[in-house]
Amino acid sequence: MALLSLVPVGLKKLMRRLHELCVIEGLKINYKKTKVLVFGRRYVNHRWSMDNHQLEQTRVFKYLGVIFSDTLSWKTHLQYTKQSAIKTVGAILKFHRSTGGNLVTPALKIFEAKVIPQVLYGALIWGWDTKAISSLETIQTDFLRRLLNLPPGTSSAMLRAETGLPPLTTHIHLALLRFMRSTVHLQNKDLLNLYLTHSSTQKSWGARLENLLHRYHLTIHQFNTIGSDKKLREAVIHHSQYLDRLYLLNSRSAPWYWRFKTDHSRSPYLTTYMPSNLRFAFTSLRFFSLPNAEREGRIAKVPKEQRYCICGYQGVEDLPHILLDCPIYHNPRMNLTSRWPDLNESAQLPIKYYS
Ligand SMILES: [Zn+2]
Repeated sequence: MALLSLVPVGLKKLMRRLHELCVIEGLKINYKKTKVLVFGRRYVNHRWSMDNHQLEQTRVFKYLGVIFSDTLSWKTHLQYTKQSAIKTVGAILKFHRSTGGNLVTPALKIFEAKVIPQVLYGALIWGWDTKAISSLETIQTDFLRRLLNLPPGTSSAMLRAETGLPPLTTHIHLALLRFMRSTVHLQNKDLLNLYLTHSSTQKSWGARLENLLHRYHLTIHQFNTIGSDKKLREAVIHHSQYLDRLYLLNSRSAPWYWRFKTDHSRSPYLTTYMPSNLRFAFTSLRFFSLPNAEREGRIAKVPKEQRYCICGYQGVEDLPHILLDCPIYHNPRMNLTSRWPDLNESAQLPIKYYS
């Protein structure tokens, strides 16, 4: 049970009333578990008591699974959320590598069913804190990176394009937008306009909603007239995928990626069964993270002309060199291409690539 008041006197009055009611009804209050939380920018310690029992004034309190802090910052709650989500991610990956048989689809399904709701809990209250929620994104990025066995620093946009998952922040924004939509539709159609006309400060609800819609290139009119939650979801996810694509088109770490992956759907090779070591090798090739002198030199800041291959080739050891030219891989290359006549033919053609 929570008693709320804007002033200390009001709360003390409520506490007295509650005590009187408990006496009449024969109920006992557990004073050890009863706490007072005072919201404000500065911490002021008050004296609180009920029926001659001193009550503790705390700075954070967990109520119905959400951790409230006296400054109304959601940092503590989000840290707690992150820690518990990371624990679940650890358990999913452990399952994936043992009983899960290294299958990607079941691991992704468990992530969507367990971790996303875990992160989203209470998002309607804390989700407006744009800066704080961006820190949650690493939960999903780290999970996908470890699931696909890719090195640290792998682009989150690429991981999302490969698996078809939208960003966690988009899920949070969708929860907020759906809530705002339901408010508009349940009560008064002009309620949204009312919010907006009273949006004098940056932090008002109207301004926050406007900022959020702007992020997904939606106008208030579109938001008001969009047919269903499903359509809203499609529009928001579509725009977040567009932003990822824009990022990938200009990404220097994987210049090839967007040439063969043109949408945000789960790549078919992830859904079929294949030995995990082969899948890992294929994924690292797609993500441009197969070990090579060009990549390692870029990370270690070695001048480009010094990123040689040990075969004696007078150029940079990059992926096209390893795959198409390098004599070290001649035998495995012939072994592969000879099994695939069409590929063998195309390998004879001069291949252009961009770096
Ligand atoms: Zn070589």
